[in-house]
Amino acid sequence: MERTAQRSDARPGAANRPPAPVPAPADDRDVHPPARRIGIDIGGSKIASAAVAAEVTAGADPDDLLRHHRSDPWESRDYEAAVDGLARQVRWLLDELAWPDAAVGVSVAAFLTPDRSGIVEALNLGWRDRPLARDLSVVLDLPVTLHNDANAAVWGEYLLAGSPAEGAFVLLTLGTDVGGGVVVDGRLLTGAHGIAGELGHLTVDPGGQVCVCGAAGCLAVYASGAAIAAGVRAAVPAADLARAGGGAPAVTALARRGDERVLAVVDRAAAAIAAASGQISRVVDHHTLVLGGGAADLGDPLLAAVRRHLSAGVPVGPVRPHPHVRAARAGNRAGVLGAADLAGRR
Ligand SMILES: [Zn+2]
Repeated sequence: MERTAQRSDARPGAANRPPAPVPAPADDRDVHPPARRIGIDIGGSKIASAAVAAEVTAGADPDDLLRHHRSDPWESRDYEAAVDGLARQVRWLLDELAWPDAAVGVSVAAFLTPDRSGIVEALNLGWRDRPLARDLSVVLDLPVTLHNDANAAVWGEYLLAGSPAEGAFVLLTLGTDVGGGVVVDGRLLTGAHGIAGELGHLTVDPGGQVCVCGAAGCLAVYASGAAIAAGVRAAVPAADLARAGGGAPAVTALARRGDERVLAVVDRAAAAIAAASGQISRVVDHHTLVLGGGAADLGDPLLAAVRRHLSAGVPVGPVRPHPHVRAARAGNRAGVLGAADLAGRR
C-alpha cells in the first residue's frame, strides 16, 4: 500500500513554487477496514495509543472501543528513536492482545506529503521530510496510514456522533492552536496536499493581532485555549484565579459562575468562532459544528455564546440556517480513535 513519498511544496510560504503532483483521489467508502486496528496519536507533549477491534459506531463509549489505551510522555524527539519507540508500542499492543497483525493508523500534527506517506514538516517536533508511514511500515512489516491530527480527530468525532452521513460535519479543536477538520457526505476531506481543514487560520479580523502563522487576525488568535487563557490572565488578578482553584479549571468555574471578566474573554472567542463558522458555511454549509480541545471544557458558557453570535446573524445573515453547535464527545481520545479507524483505509 505504500507509495513513494512526494515532497509537498503546497504549504504556507511556498506559494511561488510549482505544485507537487496530485495523486488520484481515494474513496474511503470503497475499502473495508481490517478487524484489528491500532491507533497512535503523536502529540506535542505525549503519544497516545490504543487498539480497536470493533467497528466504531454512533453513540459508542470511546472507553469501550479503545483497548489498552495509554498516553506516554516523549522520551526523545529524535526521529529514529521515535520510530523505534512507536514500533515497540505497536508490538506491545500486539503481544497484549495476542494479535498476529494489525493495521496501524498514525495521527500527527504535521503537514503531510500528498500521498500521506510522510511528514513534510512537524513544527512542534522539529521534523522535516520524514517518511514516517513508510519507515514504521518497514520496521513493523505492517500497513501504516498517516493522517493530520485534526483530521483524525474529526473522523473519530464523526464516527461517534451519529450525525447524518449526508452534508458536512466540522470540528474545531481549541488547544494551543486551533485545529480543524471537515467530513463531507461521510468522507474525510484531506485535500490535494493532505492539509485540508486548516480552519484555525481562517481570517476573522483582517486588521487584528498577528498570529504565529504570520497572518493577521486568524481564528486561533482569539479562540485557541492559549489565547483564552492569556485573555483571562490579563483580565483577572492572579489571586482571584488562585481562589477559584487555579489553571484551566478556575477559568471554567468562573465562567460558569457568570464572572463578567471571564465571560468577556469567552465572548470574544465565541464571536471569532461564529465568524469562522460563517466562512466555513459558505464553502460546505455544515449541519454540525463540534468544539473540542482543552478550551471546549468551558462547556455551556462557550457553546451558548457561539450560538448567540450565530443567531445574531454574524456574519452570514439571520435568514441563513446555522449549524448545530455542540461539544466534542471523545475528548482527547478522538485522535487515537480516528487514526485507528482510518488504519487500513487508503
Ligand atoms: Zn494564523
